[in-house]
Parts: sequence; structure tokens; C-alpha cells
Amino acid sequence: MSDNTQGWIDLRSDTVTQPGAAMRATMVAAHVGDDVYGDDPTVNRLQDYAAELFGHEAGMFAPSGTQTNLIALMTHCGRGDEYLVGQEAHTYKYEVGGAAVLGSIQPQPIINQPDGSILLADIEGYIKPDDLHFARTRLLALENTIGGRVLSQEYVAAATTLAHEKGLATHLDGARICNAAVKQGISLADAVKGFDTVSVCLSKGLGAPVGSVLLGPKAFIEQGKRWRKMLGGGMRQAGVIAAAAHYALEHNVALLAQDHDHAAELARGLALIPALTVSTPQTNIFWIDVPAAACAPLRAALERAQIRATVGHRMRLVTHLDVSAHDVQRTVDVFTTFFTDWRA
Ligand SMILES: *Cc1c(COP(=O)(O)O)cnc(C)c1O
Repeated sequence: MSDNTQGWIDLRSDTVTQPGAAMRATMVAAHVGDDVYGDDPTVNRLQDYAAELFGHEAGMFAPSGTQTNLIALMTHCGRGDEYLVGQEAHTYKYEVGGAAVLGSIQPQPIINQPDGSILLADIEGYIKPDDLHFARTRLLALENTIGGRVLSQEYVAAATTLAHEKGLATHLDGARICNAAVKQGISLADAVKGFDTVSVCLSKGLGAPVGSVLLGPKAFIEQGKRWRKMLGGGMRQAGVIAAAAHYALEHNVALLAQDHDHAAELARGLALIPALTVSTPQTNIFWIDVPAAACAPLRAALERAQIRATVGHRMRLVTHLDVSAHDVQRTVDVFTTFFTDWRA
């Protein structure tokens, strides 16, 4: 699939995939219309298909996962409301504070456990009583996978049940929920059970060039479309990119298993290098600890070998559609050679 990566191996993120020939062909052939008028047949088909696949009533296509998450938060919560969220969660940490800035929504960040979960006792403990001193706690937002880790079905069921019992709504940042479903061998609908709304990225491991979908009840999605318009996400002949997103959902979910195998293989190879501490990947993302003094020369060595990675003391490695088994082997070889020669 790497028709345009010119020999580079890119392990920075699964957002870097290039659309392949078959995906591009669907983009060229897409029938389009003005989606702000609801007229784009390819967008409508994608939204219906995604809703059906994940067992939700309706779907909305948007330019990014940051936007679908923000739309969900702004639809669930009003000014002066708050949402419970993991300290490490994307919506809290990596979305520029949008819920607070644009939504006037207060986040209540809660520590994530080593497995990525938030303790049920913490969820319960952080829900604020009905008191005029407090923001109104409205929503629990979880993320799956989180930092490549899969939240178990049992945990998700317990956390979403608890939230609902306490009168909160539930939102899933499912940017990589397809990885979680494939890893657990469950359907996409089962993987999102318990959540009132779900955001799914199509431009991560699924390989589409652009776009996310927000899924939920029909009335929620209709309200969400107003926020999408306000945030500048109303797109016109968006079928050109929706076609690629549809192709990704239809053809690339099953391929994620290969990314997980490649991550495991890469981790196994790197774990043989004594200077590195390597975490065990659950999906397509894992972390390695690199001696601080090795970072600069390693960065240069990877660059020379045409390997792109975010080198740091604690370093994230990500496999995806455009990383082959051969690329994994080549990466292991480059690291191994580097650390054979390297002395602190
Ligand atoms: C990538 C990502 C998003 C959304 O990112 P965009 O780049 O805005 O599409 C949201 N949540 C998680 C966990 C992500 O990894």
C-alpha cells in the first residue's frame, strides 16, 4: 500500500498511512452532493453504514476525531456542566482544551490506572452532589484503546452501568475502538455497548486519509450537526473523502490484526536489546524506554536508515497498514546494529 512513502518506514503514528489504489479508485468514482444540505449520497451511505455496523441509530461524518469528540461533549454538556475523563485521555490532554475553551465545559480529570482504566470508586467519588457550589457532573468519557491498551468488556460494562445508575451519560472516544474489537475477537457493536455516543477515527489504523464518525441517537446527532456547523465542520462535496472512509471501514478492520502481529514482532525483536526496556503491545502501539544519552545518536541513526520515529527517553512506536513484516525486520536490524555499537 505504501505507494508514496518512498522507502521510509514511519513508526510515529497510524495516522500516516497513504490511501492505496483501490481506496483512491472509490474516491474518484464517488457520487457527491452538498452535505450541509444533507445531499451527499456517499456521506449519507457512510453514516448509515457506520451506524449499522456499530449498532447505533445515526451517524455524522466530520473532518477529525477532535471535532467529533468536541461535538459529543458540547451536545452532552452545557455551560457550567462537567465531564469525568481520564488524566491521560485524548479529549482532556490532546485536544487543546477545546471542551473548556469552546464548550464552557469543565473537565474533571481522574488518574488512569496502569491498564488505562479509571477506578469505579474514583468515578463514583468524583461525581459532584447537587449543590450550587458545584459544576453539574453530566458525562463519563472513556477511551478505548487508550495508549494502545484495551479496556476489557467487563470493565466497560461496569463503568458505563455505574455512570448510567448515577444519571450520567456515557461517551466513548473510540478513535481506535476497531483495534480493541479485533484484539478481543468481538463485533464492533459489542465493543461499543454501554455508550450513548461513540467517536470513531477512520484515518488512524483503518487507513482513510481524513475523517471520523460520531454515532448515537438520531436526535443527538441532529443536535450535534448544529455544533459541527458552528465549529466549521460543515463540508460540501465531502463524498470524495467519505468514499475512502467507507472503503476503510469495509475492508480494513480485519487487517488490524496484522498491525497487532507486527507490533508484537517488533517488540520481541527490540526486547532482545539489553539497553532497552520494552512494553508488551496489546494492539498496534507500544512504548520503549531508551537511555537518555542514546536518544540523539539513535535519532540520527534512524534518520540515516530512513526510519521515522519520535525518539525520546520514553518512546512510542506504532504499526499500521504501511508497515510490512519486512519493515519490522529492518527496524529491528537497525536498532540492533545501533545498540551493538553504542556505549553510554
Ligand atoms: C487521534 C485521536 C483522536 C482524534 O484525532 P484527530 O487527529 O483530530 O482525528 C481522538 N482520540 C484519540 C484517542 C486519538 O488517538
